[in-house]
Amino acid sequence: MSEVQETILEIDLKALKHNFKFIKSKLSNNTKLLAVVKAFAYGGDAEVIAKYLQGLKVDCFAVAYVYEGVALRNAGITLPILILHPQPINFDLAIKYNLEPSIYSLRTLNYFISASKKNKQLDYPIHIKFNTGLNRLGFDASEIASILEKLKLTKTLKVKSLFSHLAASEDLNEVAFTKDQINIFKTVTTTFIKQLGYTPVLHQCNTSGIINYPEAHFNMVRSGIGLYGYGNDPQINKQLKPIATLKTVISQIHTINKGESLGYNRAYIASKTTTTATLPIGHADGISRNYGNGNGYVVINSKKAPIIGNVCMDMIMVDVSNINCKEGDEVILFDKEFTAEDLAQTIQSISYELLTSVSRRIKRVFYR
Ligand SMILES: *Cc1c(COP(=O)(O)O)cnc(C)c1O
Repeated sequence: MSEVQETILEIDLKALKHNFKFIKSKLSNNTKLLAVVKAFAYGGDAEVIAKYLQGLKVDCFAVAYVYEGVALRNAGITLPILILHPQPINFDLAIKYNLEPSIYSLRTLNYFISASKKNKQLDYPIHIKFNTGLNRLGFDASEIASILEKLKLTKTLKVKSLFSHLAASEDLNEVAFTKDQINIFKTVTTTFIKQLGYTPVLHQCNTSGIINYPEAHFNMVRSGIGLYGYGNDPQINKQLKPIATLKTVISQIHTINKGESLGYNRAYIASKTTTTATLPIGHADGISRNYGNGNGYVVINSKKAPIIGNVCMDMIMVDVSNINCKEGDEVILFDKEFTAEDLAQTIQSISYELLTSVSRRIKRVFYR
């Protein structure tokens, strides 16, 4: 795309639209799509991305924390926003900004009942989360009677959805476990609805669940990584387009002689004459120290240049001995071809972690 003169994260909104349509094509017409835009829309920019998805007529959003939801409201997002992991201290703020909490325990339910009464609410939408095997957040089936007992005593709340989260939807060695989770969810929600007296929306699938378990789409699905162009599967990856490209520029080129060292702690010692390029991106920008010492790479003129020596806070050095390049040339950390998943794999990480690590000091540039 553009000539680059500093480190930037390019966000391709056309690719986002492509991924949105791909996910929608996996759903039946009456299944709603919730876009997960937590952690700055997986390191992109939650406000721009949510606005764009709102324009595409996504049904609703989810973020992890209340302040993320407040930022979306301030940016003009009017669709419902589910807060996946709200903290009780922020419940008044959640109500003020019309943010809908996931309620996952009797403790959080008690706190939210108090907040809804204090703020004089009627039928305030809440989302009840059940634990079906992830063992992270969620009510146990044995707590259904207690939840309903508390809900019957108040008119301030209305259960808008019942949901759960899959632990291994991308792992086809765990099909039996996942099917168990789906069956537990069906049983728990059937019991709950019978006693509640009305029928909330049901949802359980994340991106890989959408792809691998169409029988578990229920009324709604939640997609994060798929919208950003990654499918946790080589076949699906081919059909999606990574929306984020992280690129930088060569600041300076050095030639170091055999026996000379490079960078902090002299971690790299040249075994022969070596040409190195210094780049303005470091661990403070989301490039973990683990990528150093030959593990990770960048791409210059379509060739991989290994990251050598220790990753510094604001810089990395790469070996360009075999690459024809000069100061000022463009450098790719990841793009649609050399993906964030490929780079993350060099340190046994995943696309999610690398994408969400790209620090806020890196400029975001949008292409429509
Ligand atoms: C983050 C998250 C998602 C999105 O998962 P992807 O794999 O990115 O699609 C869905 N549901 C919950 C509860 C989450 O925390």
